[in-house]
Amino acid sequence: KKIRFYPIFALLMTDKTFNTIKQLLESPKKVVIVPHQNPDGDAVGASLGLSLFLQKLGHQAQVISPNDYPKFLKWMPETDKVIQFEQHFKKATKIIEESELIFIVDFNALNRTGDAMTKVLETLKIPLVMIDHHQQPDNFTELIYSDTSICSTCQMVYQFIEKLNRLDKIDAAIATCLYTGIMTDTGSFKYRSTTSTTHRIIANLIDKGANNNDIHNSVYDTNTYSGLQLLGRALSNLRVINEYNTAYITISEADKSEFNFSKGDTEGFVNYGLSIDNIVFAVIFIEDASQGIIKMSLRSKGNFSVNQFARTHFEGGGHDNAAGGKSKDTLENTVKTFLALLPQYKSDLNKNEGNL
Ligand code: 5GP
Ligand code: MN
Repeated sequence: KKIRFYPIFALLMTDKTFNTIKQLLESPKKVVIVPHQNPDGDAVGASLGLSLFLQKLGHQAQVISPNDYPKFLKWMPETDKVIQFEQHFKKATKIIEESELIFIVDFNALNRTGDAMTKVLETLKIPLVMIDHHQQPDNFTELIYSDTSICSTCQMVYQFIEKLNRLDKIDAAIATCLYTGIMTDTGSFKYRSTTSTTHRIIANLIDKGANNNDIHNSVYDTNTYSGLQLLGRALSNLRVINEYNTAYITISEADKSEFNFSKGDTEGFVNYGLSIDNIVFAVIFIEDASQGIIKMSLRSKGNFSVNQFARTHFEGGGHDNAAGGKSKDTLENTVKTFLALLPQYKSDLNKNEGNL
């Protein structure tokens, strides 16, 4: 029987860029790795995985996150060594300014690190490397590895390591980080960005020591009672607009405080809207008084691009089928604005059948 080896994929990165990065990594460097604000499983997994890998190559690597991330990610390898920019502004700024190389992972516009951190990053003279899978990257660096066809930045980090011929350096901790991000960004391997390559990489990561069952339990089965009560509230706030195959959920500050909200509690709520038969567009609006915004998560099935929708109307972006955005209006008005936009998308929202 013929054994099928899976090929090394061409990275969507020029040879020149790859060789420049490779060369930069040939001598020990002080490296800083930055995920986006409110980092998710993919951003944290890619940052920690890359950081552990670079340490194994002999570099000093420090992950600096713009702000805090959810509890359900705090079991990850070296999560305790992450510095939060928002909390340790001076220390983080000093480390960034003394670094020799920066990796930007899982985002493609500097402003996704927040105003204060953007100011520090945009004045740097050192090389910045972007590894990201979101649409429409900004041009703030020449060293770009951007591939919107790949499910997760963690898969891109794996493929980058593969291209460097250093898969042997992936140990159980690195494998655990990369597995986690691929899992969370693919909705546990079910979104359409999940390919056979994704599954082969996942299989390799398990062989390298990622404990798939433990990882699933740590991320998904650590709910709190009050968190589930908040989900109950979200579901009772769920509205369906059949005419536009759309569903939306609202969560107010009052809902959050009633159920003892903590960061990460609303993760995945938006997907309940999308799980309804015939729904192709789902949105959750979450009031955030501390930031003075309504944070929106948008999801779609088929060809309706929530990236475009969020970019055009709600200062956001992301992927075709998963994006984020915000509004500075009240919760009520934001929903009104949103509802008023739907009629112009009626045909896009109704011609999705083939993709369901
Ligand atoms: P979530 O709804 O889970 O916060 O984000 C969904 C996707 O959209 C993620 O890939 C996330 O990185 C991206 N995203 C979320 N908020 C924003 C935003 O304000 N701007 C952009 N460009 N992307 C976002
Ligand atoms: Mn991602």
